[in-house]
Amino acid sequence: MNGPEENIKNKLGLVHVYTGNGKGKTTACLGLAFRASGRGLRVVMLQFLKPANSYGEHLASEMIPNFTMEPMGADHMVGREVTREEDLELTRRGLERAEEVLTSGDYDMVILDEINNSMSFGLLTPGDLIGILERRAPNTEVVLSGRGVPQEIIDYADLVTEMRLVKHPYDRGVKARKGIEY
Ligand code: ATP
Ligand code: MG
Repeated sequence: MNGPEENIKNKLGLVHVYTGNGKGKTTACLGLAFRASGRGLRVVMLQFLKPANSYGEHLASEMIPNFTMEPMGADHMVGREVTREEDLELTRRGLERAEEVLTSGDYDMVILDEINNSMSFGLLTPGDLIGILERRAPNTEVVLSGRGVPQEIIDYADLVTEMRLVKHPYDRGVKARKGIEY
């Protein structure tokens, strides 16, 4: 049931975290986006550290009118040792965009994919993120994903799930597969 008599939006506004070393964090975000958009909620997913046009989900999101994806990363991987100027600049722009979508009231769900990695790489602080989250429009549900979430964000969130690595075919040499990993 999703009629005018049932306002599903007034129950929104919580913060989720999907973290850990097992596979499934970004796909959990996409699953939520799929479910929420099916209920007519307006969803935007900003992808930190990820380049454009490399993922199956970018193609799929174009088929869903109320689900938008915006890649905010560079065309190279960010490593812990190489905190490049470019990545800092892209992160700054990503945060600006995050603030826009969170404060505008134009979206019911805002997903910041891989933002935990950005924090663990030192590209932004938990305080930067919490400052922006505090200013979000009422009833905006927030989803944060990525490895290495800081304790401050765990404390701030309402829901935290850790994907634990039990087994992954990568460990026996199976490389990322189209349609499964990207
Ligand atoms: P997915 O996008 O498949 O849901 P994820 O978001 O949990 O995975 P990330 O930490 O963002 O995983 O990892 C980046 C890439 O590495 C993705 O292509 C992902 O599928 C893959 N991956 C995830 N976990 C592992 C693992 N334990 N070993 C090897 N590759 C992994
Ligand atoms: Mg991911």
